Formats: sequence, C-alpha cells, structure tokens
Amino acid sequence: MTMTSEWLSVLPKAELHMHIDGSLQAERMLQLAKKNGIDLPYSTVEDVKAAYQFEDLQSFLDLYYLGASVLREEDDFYHLMMDYLVKCREDNIVHTEIMVEPQTYLANGIDFDVFMSGFKRAITDAKSWGISVLLILSLLKHTTEDECIAVLNMADDYSDDFVALGMASTEIGNPPEKFQRLYELGKGRGYNLQTHSGEEGAADLIWGSLETMQAMRIDHGVRCTDDPQLVEHLKKHQIPLTVCPLSNVRLRVFDKIEDHNIIDLLKEEVLVTVNSDDPAYFGGFLNDNYHALIDAFDLDKTDVLALVKNGFRASYLPESRINAFVNELDGMLGG
Ligand SMILES: [Zn+2]
Repeated sequence: MTMTSEWLSVLPKAELHMHIDGSLQAERMLQLAKKNGIDLPYSTVEDVKAAYQFEDLQSFLDLYYLGASVLREEDDFYHLMMDYLVKCREDNIVHTEIMVEPQTYLANGIDFDVFMSGFKRAITDAKSWGISVLLILSLLKHTTEDECIAVLNMADDYSDDFVALGMASTEIGNPPEKFQRLYELGKGRGYNLQTHSGEEGAADLIWGSLETMQAMRIDHGVRCTDDPQLVEHLKKHQIPLTVCPLSNVRLRVFDKIEDHNIIDLLKEEVLVTVNSDDPAYFGGFLNDNYHALIDAFDLDKTDVLALVKNGFRASYLPESRINAFVNELDGMLGG
C-alpha cells in the first residue's frame, strides 16, 4: 500500500451514490434466502461471486433484483442497512446519501412501513458513532411514469426521511421526457432532483436530464465528455457528477480503470465525486474505488483531497457543515 493509500483511510469521506440493495453482500444474501425460504440458483458464496461477471447493465440488473428478492422482513432491512453502515465506519465515511428503491420491495409484496422502519432503526443505531445519513427516493426508469408517481405519492408519509428524488435502472429507451411530470411533482414537494444519466446513454440524455427533468445532480454522467459544450456547462454551473469508477469498469462503460475519464474531468474542474454504486457486486466499497484510482493514475495527495472535498461539496448537507468538512480536510494535506 502506498503512502497515499494509508493516508486516504483516515480522511473523513462522503458517499453520494450507493444503492442500498447493491450493498447486499453474498453471505447475507444466502443467509436471508435460507431464513425466508427463497430459492436462489446459488448455494455458496463462491457461486454468488461467480455470477458477478456481467456483460452489461442489464445482466447486472437481473442479478441485482434477484438478490434483493431475499429481503422480506423488517429485520432483513435493518441488517442490510447496518451491514453497509459498518462498512462506512471501516472506510471512515462520515456522511452518506443512500438510494432506496421502493419499487423493488413493493413488487415482492413488502409494504413501505416494513423496509423504512428497518432502515431507520439501523440509521438511528449507527448515529451513536457519529455518521450522518440522508436517504434518496430512487425510482426505476424501466417502469411507467404513472407507477413512479404512485410510489412518489406513497412516499409522502416519509417525506421527512427523503432529501431527494432520483432515478436509476435502464436509461436507454427511457428518455428524460418520459419522466417530466414525475420530476415536476417531485420539485413541487421540495425534493432535490437528481437522476442516473450518461452511464450507457449518450450526452444528449444528460442534457435532457438537466433541462427536462431539471436535475441538479447527475449520477454517473461520464459520457459528458462526448460533448465539450456539456462539459463546459457542468463546469460553469458546478453540477455534480457522482462517478463510480469500479462500477463503470465492471459494466464495461470503460474497458479498464486506466481508460476512465474522472481524472480528466477533475483537472477540468468539473465537480466529480467518487462513489461505489453497488459495492457488493462491483468489487469494492468506497475506499477500494479510491485505491483503484490512486494506483491507475498515480494520484498525489492534492488530487485525492480534491476528490474527497468534492464529495462533501456535492452533498445535500447544509453549507456550514460542508465548509467545516472542507476546512478539516484542508488541514490534513500535510498529515
Ligand atoms: Zn447507480
């Protein structure tokens, strides 16, 4: 481990792009499947991990929804959340904004109350060690806008628990125009607006996400470099991109980590952040993503610190807390 990597582990960090179902580790998946009598085509941790060789986004999503099907009871959701928050403590993530996808659970006949009370109980327990947690209501692009609006309405009982409205899942074939009304409604409820875009889809979908969906933060967004005007726009308005390096390599957005454009974007002063996306499936939690970048691009402390600070600057924390974290990090450059 290089000096920079050791130093990284003690930096306080934020994570902004992490799907809670994507943190379901193989051991927990098998344990819950057994407890709940759910048939999976895997019987060992090795079987599950062997299935992590994805061809593309769709082949990943097929396994992802199968994995989430083992979650049934309040306690299951508690453990899913707590397992991730324990990982946060190991990686020194002090602030995390977690995507919750109700449609995945509703499809299995599980009520809002069941998963939300499990998640909230874990978050309450973890607060004792000082982590701050915000939740993002994440809806699925492959479903209809009417279905998404129905879930948005259901979430009204939990509007204090969600800081933002986002969308994930298949972007190609589900353009921003499909969800214009949904995002108008989300805006009317006071949610921050964000969406997955520019992962598999081209730069025009990122433009649509900004203009039609009125998104203020883009999850992934790496295809922006296909359009220099878009890069300039993102830089000028400091619109955050929540980038997930290991995910992008696993899902073949880039062939290898050395081909990733996040460091070019950082040098161009686009507000890029480092995140793990679906860490159990993509070969690493947050610090593993940083380590991969440090090794591939021979990053120095200034580069790493810029990425870590961006994680706070792009967050939904109040300005005063962002400034406090940025100042604390500035003081750690020489450490
Ligand atoms: Zn994602």
